[in-house]
Amino acid sequence: AVPLVVSTTTSIAAKKGLLIRNRTAFEEARKLNAVVFDKTGTLTQGKFGITDILPASGYTETEILTLVGSLEAQSEHPISKGVVEEVKNREIKIPEPESFEALTGKGLKGKVNGKDVLVVSPGFMEDQKIDYPIAEYNKLASQGKTVVFAVVDNQYAGLIGLADKVRDSAKNAVENLKSLEIKSMMLTGDNRKVAQWVGESLHLDEIYAEVLPHQKADKITEIQKEGYMVAMTGDGVNDAPALAKADLGIAIGAGTDVAIETADIVLVRSDPNDVVSILDLSRKAYNKMI
Ligand code: ADP
Ligand code: MG
Repeated sequence: AVPLVVSTTTSIAAKKGLLIRNRTAFEEARKLNAVVFDKTGTLTQGKFGITDILPASGYTETEILTLVGSLEAQSEHPISKGVVEEVKNREIKIPEPESFEALTGKGLKGKVNGKDVLVVSPGFMEDQKIDYPIAEYNKLASQGKTVVFAVVDNQYAGLIGLADKVRDSAKNAVENLKSLEIKSMMLTGDNRKVAQWVGESLHLDEIYAEVLPHQKADKITEIQKEGYMVAMTGDGVNDAPALAKADLGIAIGAGTDVAIETADIVLVRSDPNDVVSILDLSRKAYNKMI
């Protein structure tokens, strides 16, 4: 039989919008000493809006948005949604791409109006040694903006800066975890400068940036090897393997089905501060039993 304290706790949890899918993992949660958060959609709202467009010489803003928008319209990525919204606001007509491919964790690739088009991360630009205006990039990135680059026929064609908002409750969550002596860490595919900006504004203990999707789970293993018992909180398809690797996998309720199915606990309200409630409840429930 399930001890009374456990079933009571489960219903208290449910009332707070915490759906416990794996009771053993929840019981063990009282021993956690680190929480790793995914950035986009977890610590931030995951809603990007375009703040800057810098076309390279020979291009207009509309041309950049047309080529980039054509590819972004094929994807469900939060960056894509931000670009597509801007395209709609400006009433720009975008063509169907002649080909399309997602470069997971790096960007998008395709053929648009007969041209080879890439929309990619700073890391991709570095790897492929494609020149871009570093000063302009640095300026936007140090403001915490995510920057993507348009590359047309292998040449830099422009850059787009996008801003996402840090969730108010994320700051609270980090403070509360600190008072429980639990480290807060962030894992993101976004570039180091943006990660640092978010890390500083939230007072995170550790940040891991430019982590490709397939590396996220390995990162969790590394953190565990440093002696941490880790909860991972995420929302994306990319996060699912890391959720599975963590001692406690927590999915943000507004996240993707894959993340939700993999998680030990689901946060109905998408509030990072609910992570604190989980640890608190687990400590209260199970420390009493021993
Ligand atoms: P996160 O870990 O923050 O969820 P991702 O791993 O999905 O981020 O993406 C990492 C980086 O790859 C982005 O910051 C961006 O530079 C680039 N990228 C990914 N998808 C897209 C896209 N659809 N359009 C443009 N750039 C993208
Ligand atoms: Mg994400």
